Amino acid sequence: VTPTIGILGAGQLGRMLALSGYPLGVKFVFVDPAPSPPAADLAPHLQLAYDDPKALQALSQCDSVTYEFENVPEATARALSGSVSVFPAPEALHVAQDRWLEKQCFAELGIPTPRSVAVDTLTEFDAAVREIGPHAVAKTRRMGYDGKGQRLIRSTRDAASAWAALGGVPLILEELVPFERELSLIAVRSSTGQIACYPLAQNEHHDGILRVTLAPAPRLTPALQLEAERYGALLLERFQYVGVLALELFQIDGRLLANEIAPRVHNSGHWTIEGAVTSQFENHLRAGLGLPLGATQATCAAGMINLIGQIPDPATILELPGAHLHLYGKTPRAGRKLGHVTLCARTAEERQQRVARLRALCDPSP
Ligand code: AMP
Repeated sequence: VTPTIGILGAGQLGRMLALSGYPLGVKFVFVDPAPSPPAADLAPHLQLAYDDPKALQALSQCDSVTYEFENVPEATARALSGSVSVFPAPEALHVAQDRWLEKQCFAELGIPTPRSVAVDTLTEFDAAVREIGPHAVAKTRRMGYDGKGQRLIRSTRDAASAWAALGGVPLILEELVPFERELSLIAVRSSTGQIACYPLAQNEHHDGILRVTLAPAPRLTPALQLEAERYGALLLERFQYVGVLALELFQIDGRLLANEIAPRVHNSGHWTIEGAVTSQFENHLRAGLGLPLGATQATCAAGMINLIGQIPDPATILELPGAHLHLYGKTPRAGRKLGHVTLCARTAEERQQRVARLRALCDPSP
């Protein structure tokens, strides 16, 4: 029998889930309020609000339901889990939707994370600025992504404008970490409890948006990988998690600090489509279908560049050896993720050279 997986959200992540699910004989139904989202080219798309009863009715007919967007209403996920298997469990969504709950979860599990304080009022904010110190970042507890809902604080003046911009909704104030680099772990757990982790990826962000991923991360040591995998496993077990979980990390003084989790496939795992034995998308589906997970080893030195705001000439990109182009079918708009390119190289040095060429093509203004 052909299983049907319902997916809340029909963006590029949903599109790539569908692309990886068809070889396994999986069918998909997407729910997304947007008129023609990227996954709608591939499978039936119900243009409905996530909490529309018609959406719940349709999804409850599926064999299982997952999400590709973490801000779907938790109540929808909980309601669905009464009638259909929902993966990952709504509890993971609940925690991942709130930066303060995330911090508390890291603390409970003994996972190091930047110091932070929850703040609801101006008085609490002023106290938090004194406690955390002059180098901080204010973040909304909920609905933040791609650097939205964040303000850097380097002085008292910044603090006042951060409060003016963000205050009024629950916030956290977090110490600004002078990290050496940002890394992420893509981890996956199946419904039978099997766990697998991909090699750590190194991520570079511009204006809060992921720009470039190198995976395996340059200068990756077994000790660093093991430390990240230990944190990943703690999180996966905590939620009896099923599917892919992304853990974003800062590396500082040879240690890892957890920044945040995403309860879904993740942009920093796109390289796994061509660069790993099994992609994160396929493994997410295998996990949800109760199938054995596929191997997570890297098969090359992969580099991934997001195409943001504009799409360079496809022919110029595909001329580069080892380049693979993924376009999401979106209308170009400033700051919008329109696609990505993955490069596969034999060595880290070769990757460095090819990524430099690719950067010049994708981002002519350095
Ligand atoms: P986030 O939405 O929390 O992933 O933040 C977006 C980006 O802002 C991160 O990828 C970092 O580049 C930067 N950032 C967030 N929190 C901190 C922090 N505590 N210290 C330094 N940089 C941060």
